[in-house]
Amino acid sequence: GLQPGYMSPMGADKPDNETFFVLVDPSAMNVPNGVTGANKAGYHYQNVNPSRDFQNVTVTTIRNMVAGDSCPHCGAPVEIVRGIEVGQVFELGTKYSEALHATFLDQNGKAKPYVMGCYGIGVTRTIAAAIEQFHDEHGIMWPVAIAPFEVAIVPVSSKDQDQVRIAGDLYQALKAAKADVLLDDRNERAGVKFNDADLIGYPVRVTVGKKSAAEGTVEIKIRRTGEQEVVAIDQAVARVQEILADLRSKNM
Ligand SMILES: [Zn+2]
Repeated sequence: GLQPGYMSPMGADKPDNETFFVLVDPSAMNVPNGVTGANKAGYHYQNVNPSRDFQNVTVTTIRNMVAGDSCPHCGAPVEIVRGIEVGQVFELGTKYSEALHATFLDQNGKAKPYVMGCYGIGVTRTIAAAIEQFHDEHGIMWPVAIAPFEVAIVPVSSKDQDQVRIAGDLYQALKAAKADVLLDDRNERAGVKFNDADLIGYPVRVTVGKKSAAEGTVEIKIRRTGEQEVVAIDQAVARVQEILADLRSKNM
């Protein structure tokens, strides 16, 4: 009996049809002298007062909560924040233990099915959530704990034998020191390698350049903060470990 374009809760109740019902938000119930359709094409009702004119309706809060609404439990204003589900728990009860006859003996020596639960942690969504929170316009800024590699060594020129040797030695030394290290030995321009290092987001980058052979130094860059420092090659392993420990301690 509803007329599209002129629908109304008035005269819409169909007692013979149990699947038909009208839900009204409490705020709508308080509208004074409102207008509704009349369930007849081209007609409306004026001066509708829901508490007087609506019959057989269920009054319930049906709209989405918005920031500032009162908490239904304590009345305090609600604050809305974004979240992401990284895991979940399920209560399985005895459904599977009964089916599998998985039992234990209780204090009376009677066999009882285990009460089971399970949990899951979404690995891929955790990765996605971490990237969502830790990135900038250049790419990912991995927290050390989940970085694919903790430190990347980038020789500026893969054709410079001194740079290749120093980078290779540093790579072996960091590996021996149990650092999770990557050596970018691709024959690419320095800019490409730097951009890729930022994009992939290794927490620490060690750059081996012309000065490494000439002055015995390398440059260390922290991806998260952008801080750079120049250290002596023989200090590099200790300094990288120090930086990684510091980042870890700050959950960075
Ligand atoms: Zn509350």
